Amino acid sequence: MSTAAHPLELRLLRCTVRGCGAPLELAAHALVCARGHAFDRARAGHVNLLQPQDRRAPEPGDSSAALLARERWFERGRAAALVAALAARGAASASGAWLDLCCGTGAFTRALAPRGPAFGLDLAAFAIERAAKRDPARAWLVANADRGLPFVDGALERVLAVQARLPERELARVVAPGGRVIAVLPGARDQLELRERVLADARPLEHAERTRALFGAGWRVAHEEQLEARVACDRAALADALALAYRGQRASETARLAGVDELVVTQAWHVLELERC
Ligand SMILES: [Zn+2]
Repeated sequence: MSTAAHPLELRLLRCTVRGCGAPLELAAHALVCARGHAFDRARAGHVNLLQPQDRRAPEPGDSSAALLARERWFERGRAAALVAALAARGAASASGAWLDLCCGTGAFTRALAPRGPAFGLDLAAFAIERAAKRDPARAWLVANADRGLPFVDGALERVLAVQARLPERELARVVAPGGRVIAVLPGARDQLELRERVLADARPLEHAERTRALFGAGWRVAHEEQLEARVACDRAALADALALAYRGQRASETARLAGVDELVVTQAWHVLELERC
């Protein structure tokens, strides 16, 4: 596969200029559409497809602190049970194009992307640049999935979405018939002990029901699986867990963990595989 075309060469992407949507072609150091809109390819190899209206926040997407916490969490093996289950389910096998939606710094992409064309997409430019530097063989995109996925119709065979917001209408457009969205949602008991300590709230989480309802006509649930792992967390790991769970630590939450040197934390995932009919 080393001689395979880079995913950016495959004309699977489309222009994000409002009202355009023409296919993008790789030319020299940019992606260009037939109407002349161009997106520069950064030195690290990634492409920023954000439009001016997406750039209003000084740092769109998750904060770099939260993104790095997520990366450390992964690299310490906290998600190993999830990765193994996803790999066993064939999340990593696709003959067509594969996307890691809201990939952050690309930890799951690196662990699970198949050998064929694979994309990582996130709103945070910081995360995508970091991902691109580590794995130039993939196509890394900065884009706002809430505004639209920058792919042509039916471009994708598999979409991995680990605790990502799911733009159902756009997924229905870009996932080919028979293709799948593998949604990894927080399980009912996810971070139970942490929620109890910090928020005094240990109620079961319920994300699967909502997601099933979101993906109605045009989709079928092809597989469903719940996973749990209990991990001992030291202070540093707890700080990372907080940053992950609450999208950036707030001082009051951190304060409630002061004096806690170790806590066993349940991690729970609900995997929902949705097939496009
Ligand atoms: Zn265009």
